[in-house]
Amino acid sequence: MTKFIEGENRFQSTLFPESLDDYVSNESMVRVLDYFIDDLNISGLGFRTEANDTGRPPYHPRTLLKIYVYGYLNRIHSGRRLELEAQRNVELMWLTKRLAPDFKTILDFRKDNGEAIRLVCREFVMVCKKAGLLADALVAIDGSKFKAVNNRDKNFTRAKMKRRLREVEESIDRYMDQLAVVDEQEPAEDKRPFEEKIAALQKEMERLKEHEVRLHEAPDKQVSLTDPDARSMKTRGTGIVGYNVQTAVDSKHHLIIAHDVTNVGSDRSQLSVIAKQAKEVLGVEKLEVVADRGYYKGEELLACEEADITAYVPKPLTSGNKAKGLFDRSKFIYKPDDDEYECPAGERLTCRGTRLEKGKIMHRYYSSACPQCPIKSKCTTGTYRYFNRWEREDVMERAEARLEDNPDMMAIRRATVEHPFGTLKAWMGWTHFQTKTLDRVSTEMSLQILAYNMKRALNIMGAKALLEAMQA
Ligand code: SF4
Repeated sequence: MTKFIEGENRFQSTLFPESLDDYVSNESMVRVLDYFIDDLNISGLGFRTEANDTGRPPYHPRTLLKIYVYGYLNRIHSGRRLELEAQRNVELMWLTKRLAPDFKTILDFRKDNGEAIRLVCREFVMVCKKAGLLADALVAIDGSKFKAVNNRDKNFTRAKMKRRLREVEESIDRYMDQLAVVDEQEPAEDKRPFEEKIAALQKEMERLKEHEVRLHEAPDKQVSLTDPDARSMKTRGTGIVGYNVQTAVDSKHHLIIAHDVTNVGSDRSQLSVIAKQAKEVLGVEKLEVVADRGYYKGEELLACEEADITAYVPKPLTSGNKAKGLFDRSKFIYKPDDDEYECPAGERLTCRGTRLEKGKIMHRYYSSACPQCPIKSKCTTGTYRYFNRWEREDVMERAEARLEDNPDMMAIRRATVEHPFGTLKAWMGWTHFQTKTLDRVSTEMSLQILAYNMKRALNIMGAKALLEAMQA
């Protein structure tokens, strides 16, 4: 006998052998996962269930889906690691009933069933709704940039390409000069190192020129070599090459009820799309959404209003006139009854014309009093101060008034959206996405979000209560 706790003898036989089920606790998340996936209408969601051409029966999509969701719940994203875990991990062996598909089968399943996997993510939101975990009145919308597999050096914008071409050209010139010096030297030095460097640079130049042709053909004048859909995007830091993930987050428990992945870096045109998705998932007549000033756009606010969605979005603080020390827009008061603006000098700016600007009907206002105005130097550097008003400016005015009446909304937004993105990025590691192209990246994000929501629901309710709510 030793002073340490001793394990069992490996060769000890038992009278009543233990079953695999004995190793999985009643509170284990795999029981929730198992029930959730077994309860799904797999063919209705569009999973491919046909046999492969070898004649051997394929694995059921439920088995492969269980492997993937388990993997994402436990931060195991690689096909090879999932193959290994299916052979040695007791929980996974329990989930798959000891089936252990090879990594290629696992990876092909994700590749071939992207749309269906995205719908599974939505199905779990329905489970959360049934379990009473969602507040059905208010969601916060936010976007965050996630890194693609594509390295920054393998992404070219016009400016970056110009710079690279110039650098290579300068290097070639430098080596050419050095070669000329070597040529004139007596006794003659070995020219080969210079010639090899020049040849390598010329090859690089040819390669860049080929990419330049592709870059000019691309609609957004940008080309990524490793992941063709990844785009260079601005972030608070130095910028990344990646994707923009949009989410609608429930204000009650911070569950992600809708999401979308795009390769457009700006959030300005994303508000109504994701808000409508959230409204549809929640199945409510009216919905309130709150987003940051990056989403402020008249057309988007209008689209929300038309869909019975009340949006709280602050106006951006940028004003060219204010920066120049001139009166900004807030100093001009609109008088709806007269359709005129009152300026800081007390004069009226009347509508003098209408024109189409980027698809929007804009009315133009100015006052004939401007040339004689005593405070003109504070208002404009031109002869008149012109003022443009979108024909649906009322939508923006209502949005501003709403936010003034509800100053707490921005604090609610911050408290709601920051948690999910922080958690997702921590789980995904340094190189966020492992897959390439928008379609596959979207599937990957759906799996991440499904895992996030599942963990969150389990933390809030516990496995037993969640399972009971699902079975009710
Ligand atoms: S310059 Fe024209 S718009 Fe500006 S304060 Fe004077 S009158 Fe009003």
